Amino acid sequence: MKEFWSEKAKRLTPYTAGEQPTQTMIKLNTNENAYPPSPKVKEAIMEAAGDLRLYPNADADHLRKVIAAHHGVAPGEVFCSNGSDEALAFCFAAFFSDSQKTEAEGGSTAWFPRSYPDSHVRTLDVTYSFYPVWAELFDAPLQTVPLKEDYSVDVAKLYGARGVVLANPNAPTGIALPLCAIEKILHKTNGVVIVDEAYAAFGAESAIPLVKKHKNLVVVRTLSKSHSLAGLRVGYAIADENLVSALRTVKDSFNSYPLDRLAQAGACAAIEDTEYNEQTTQDIIATRAYTIGELWKIGISCLPSHANFIFVEFSNPSAKQVFAALRDRGILVRYFPQNRMENFLRVTIGTRTEMDAFLAAVKEII
Ligand code: PMP
Repeated sequence: MKEFWSEKAKRLTPYTAGEQPTQTMIKLNTNENAYPPSPKVKEAIMEAAGDLRLYPNADADHLRKVIAAHHGVAPGEVFCSNGSDEALAFCFAAFFSDSQKTEAEGGSTAWFPRSYPDSHVRTLDVTYSFYPVWAELFDAPLQTVPLKEDYSVDVAKLYGARGVVLANPNAPTGIALPLCAIEKILHKTNGVVIVDEAYAAFGAESAIPLVKKHKNLVVVRTLSKSHSLAGLRVGYAIADENLVSALRTVKDSFNSYPLDRLAQAGACAAIEDTEYNEQTTQDIIATRAYTIGELWKIGISCLPSHANFIFVEFSNPSAKQVFAALRDRGILVRYFPQNRMENFLRVTIGTRTEMDAFLAAVKEII
């Protein structure tokens, strides 16, 4: 019954979010932060609610200043979006959407010489499942580079592309690339390299310091995980002003007021409460180490994680069976039935109490 759908809409396979649990379930399936946001967020939102009659600041000027100060960049190097998903989608539109068009058709040659043999955008297999969806939506020819046997990134296979998009740490593996590898990719890519740092706050090296030197780098961040604000939908990109200007052009052509007043106010308050944020982040990192250690004791291994989740391997019973058995005990984790991931479960790092419940259930199941 898709008679009125465009051919493109018919081809799309949208992202499906993890199952929504009942109140009593332990939710370790969508990588939300284990802790509530800073109490200052609520105060700021309540105050901003008084001005809802008015449109928000279209360019999130104050928020951009707060983000810039936080990362040591200029406000002109910051682009704000509704969650990082939107910044990522706009990156595909701004930098990769015209790969196959000739100049006569309106295609751009700004980022790669037409004579260059490889006009593909490369990403990893496996990675965040939204990248192929945006590639389809914005007509970017995408090539996937398989992960190595140990699920780490085969960096050299990313060299030579027109553009690169990668999550660092990668999802759902949690494995992070060092900055020197990102820098090598930047040198070896003709066009834009997008580094999606959704989970970088939990221990990966950020590529933000490379933005000054590399005019083709976009670092995308979110407050969903690092600042417990998945419900507020705030993300941002950090890049050279020229690239930010392309993102703003796409945004202004799409929706003039993307970030609402409450989101702008709440995001500022969250970022400015660094003490609270550092504490919750350190607690999650400590709980991750504890959980990995406890799993090791019962002979279960995980990939090395720099994120607020772990990718845990199961063989007997299988990951699928463990997933179902955990669910029966009221614990939701994520199972990906795809190739090379079917032996793993992705488990969000919750509070210590939640992880103890998870560990007790796993012990019972195996
Ligand atoms: N990138 C990665 C790798 C993710 O896992 C997610 C969360 N699903 C996002 C980006 C998007 O996060 P948000 O839109 O909440 O900022």
